[in-house]
Amino acid sequence: MTEHAVAIAGGGPTGMMLAAELALAKVDVAVVERRPDHVLVGSRAGGFHSRTIELLDQRGVADRFLAEGQVAQAAMFATTVLDMSDFPTRHPYSLGIWQNQIERIMAAWIAELPVRIHYGSEVTGLAQDDTGVEVELSGGQRLRAQYLVGCDGGRSVIRKAAGIEFPGWDATKSNLIAEVEMTEEPELGVRHDELGVHALGRLEYEIRDGEVVYIDGGPVRVMVTERRLGPSGEPTLRDLSEALVTVYGTDFGIHSPTWISRFTDMTRQAVAYRAGRVLLAGDAAHVHYPAGGQGLSLGVQDAVNLGWKLAQVVKGTSPESLLDSYHAERHPVGARTLRYTMAQGALQRPDERTKALVDVVSEVVSMDEPRKRIAGISSGLDIHYDLRLRGGRVEGHPLLGRRMPDLDLVTAGGPLRVFELLHDAKPVLLNLGQPGRLDIAAWADRVKLIDAEHVGAWELPVLGAVAAPTAMAIRPDGYVAWVGDGTDSGLREALTTWFGAP
Ligand SMILES: Cc1cc2nc3c(=O)[nH]c(=O)nc-3n(C[C@H](O)[C@H](O)[C@H](O)COP(=O)(O)OP(=O)(O)OC[C@H]3O[C@@H](n4cnc5c(N)ncnc54)[C@H](O)[C@@H]3O)c2cc1C
Repeated sequence: MTEHAVAIAGGGPTGMMLAAELALAKVDVAVVERRPDHVLVGSRAGGFHSRTIELLDQRGVADRFLAEGQVAQAAMFATTVLDMSDFPTRHPYSLGIWQNQIERIMAAWIAELPVRIHYGSEVTGLAQDDTGVEVELSGGQRLRAQYLVGCDGGRSVIRKAAGIEFPGWDATKSNLIAEVEMTEEPELGVRHDELGVHALGRLEYEIRDGEVVYIDGGPVRVMVTERRLGPSGEPTLRDLSEALVTVYGTDFGIHSPTWISRFTDMTRQAVAYRAGRVLLAGDAAHVHYPAGGQGLSLGVQDAVNLGWKLAQVVKGTSPESLLDSYHAERHPVGARTLRYTMAQGALQRPDERTKALVDVVSEVVSMDEPRKRIAGISSGLDIHYDLRLRGGRVEGHPLLGRRMPDLDLVTAGGPLRVFELLHDAKPVLLNLGQPGRLDIAAWADRVKLIDAEHVGAWELPVLGAVAAPTAMAIRPDGYVAWVGDGTDSGLREALTTWFGAP
């Protein structure tokens, strides 16, 4: 039987991101993916938001995605665009890029890393004991790993086999989504009616002056709300034709579909992201209505939170209890996103009372403070992990538990950006005070100590200006685990908590 330190079920965006994180940390990782290769049939997600771009920037690969996508102020709440161009980040926008492009770029990235991928293989079951997990594969094969992570999507076999409950809310509405050719000229754009929201658009588009401009020809991406909640089986071209006729009075002569699928507003979250040696990430841990485009970002961020922790546990530098901080940090973020998407879904209801509510909410979120608050959630830039859960400090600098900004630094070796320090996914102790004043020799094999200068104000998204700290310990996921106030008080405890005993 093949053995690996970590096995990942599912090579979608979450599984690939986790595999990259583990490979960067030099952990032996294998991905089991049901599809015969990385190609995703259909466009599915339409992009991701600012914090996800930042995470990719922290690994030095954001440019690959930016080169193929379209940046735009695309985050919306009710009918209001949440313009975040004034947020203090290098990426104050969302990126429009189809999921099949995202997965292609990710697959090319992990092909450069020591990641083993078993395509065309399906996980069918698991059995865990004190030292590892035996993973059953289709065709009767097995593999063994110290830990297994279920990144196998909303219908996760891993979640079910591990006996993790998935409570939440059943679907109340369904939409058909498809890519088809049309013999008639389609009515491109978004339509609202008594059934809900519908949209027709070309797969190829550009953003010009903030507006979507479709490029003529090629397939049309159809999204249509169904009159009644659709069945769970695969939808057909006929279902799509009927739904289009109901809304538009014509099916525009649809033919030659490359992809037809159905999604709903079912909203559920795993009660635990970990059961012993089995963990869940991405859609396997949470499903929700796609309004607001949050799912892929949430999964990629789960992976970046989990990867370095799992690597340290596997290498024996941190105790297994470090893994509990994964659930403690990511479950609340997932729960908040679920509430946010349920609110978005509710605001799409077509009745007059909801329309009145939409008007009121739109007015509120167009005001500056509410805009920032909601844009902070939508972009993921306001995430604040409660580090108390690992015995960390309760109060302290606002940066504690928040994302480290990508500051311009001046070091003895020349200028660089903070995110460049994170490319190899290692912890960083950044000293902005007197050079050489911090001594962490006992962690020298694990934590990079950088003496640097930063000139300029300190500003955090949503919060605004904060006092300039003198030093900070930055976790590999880019979140700050310790903030110095001129002394090294609490530094050793923080390094031990997060990066293991010296
Ligand atoms: C219409 C639509 C629009 C969306 N728009 C957005 C958007 O704009 N922005 C956004 O952030 N999100 C969006 N989402 C959500 C996004 O698509 C998902 O959240 C995202 O794909 C989750 O990634 P994942 O890797 O966790 O799961 P998945 O993408 O579902 O990947 C799971 C992988 O596991 C494999 N697999 C499944 N079972 C097994 C098994 N037993 N063994 C081996 N392999 C297995 C599958 O083949 C798949 O490759 C949208 C979703 C839909 C439906």
